[in-house]
Amino acid sequence: MNAPTSPAVANAAGTADRAERITRIREAAYRIRRNALDMGEVQGQGYIGQALGVADVLAVVYTDQLRYRPEDPHWPDRDRFLLSIGHYAIALYAALAEAGTIPLEELETYGSDDSRLPMSAMASYTPGVEISGGSLGHGLPVATGMALGLRHQGNSARVFNLLSDGELDEGSTWEAAMACAHHGLDNVTAIVDVNALQADGPTAGVLRTEPVTDKWQAFGWHALRVDGNDVAALVDALDELRAHRGSPSVLICDTRIGRGVPLLETREKAHFMRVEEHEWQAARTQLEEGLAR
Ligand SMILES: [Mg+2]
Repeated sequence: MNAPTSPAVANAAGTADRAERITRIREAAYRIRRNALDMGEVQGQGYIGQALGVADVLAVVYTDQLRYRPEDPHWPDRDRFLLSIGHYAIALYAALAEAGTIPLEELETYGSDDSRLPMSAMASYTPGVEISGGSLGHGLPVATGMALGLRHQGNSARVFNLLSDGELDEGSTWEAAMACAHHGLDNVTAIVDVNALQADGPTAGVLRTEPVTDKWQAFGWHALRVDGNDVAALVDALDELRAHRGSPSVLICDTRIGRGVPLLETREKAHFMRVEEHEWQAARTQLEEGLAR
């Protein structure tokens, strides 16, 4: 008997009703956020704002788009999801737990000695983590090489790279963008998390990257831009990109740091967040209220 595959297969075949699909993804996004809050509480601080901001994107990718086998993370025909922003590990672990690739109860080991879930994502530690991220600007070059290799092998798997708007400051990102388009790698989908913030401050003040969509198009990419916290918009855009042929695709996602937890959405030091002990339960309550609305 074949091992079960992810829901992406059923959705690609058009068997899932759209409204039902969106409800299911929204619920997955809620659980990804809750997982991230639970992990954040273990350390009392971290890249929690980014995890909450990108949860809708990860929910769509992992429960609707990506083809994988949770119990066989090295399945050769799996779609590859590359996280070049290693500090978003908390978000990826939250999604991998939702996907069934890592056990939910393991999340409480996040960042502890001997845990498989280090603070920055590393391929050799964690099932489902494809590359070691952290040195920014490496994800898209690796994705380009992987996609070339897969095409050479006649493997139809797709390669996704989630990168941050801060990574648009990296020359290597644009070198890869140029190479990817040159080779017509339509098996590559880049997803840019535009939260308008990076370690040194607001992106617009550190190094202006707008107009982001025009830049990708000028580099030969099929580019769409959506509200990255709107599940329906993400589903429609990723469905469209899935069907696109002839050039690589990029989905530019405008997201809000801390999304879903109002008390964290407005926090000033948002890049690396400190959350007080008494605030965690309040955060979970606000998250639950948001799902009910
Ligand atoms: Mg950013």
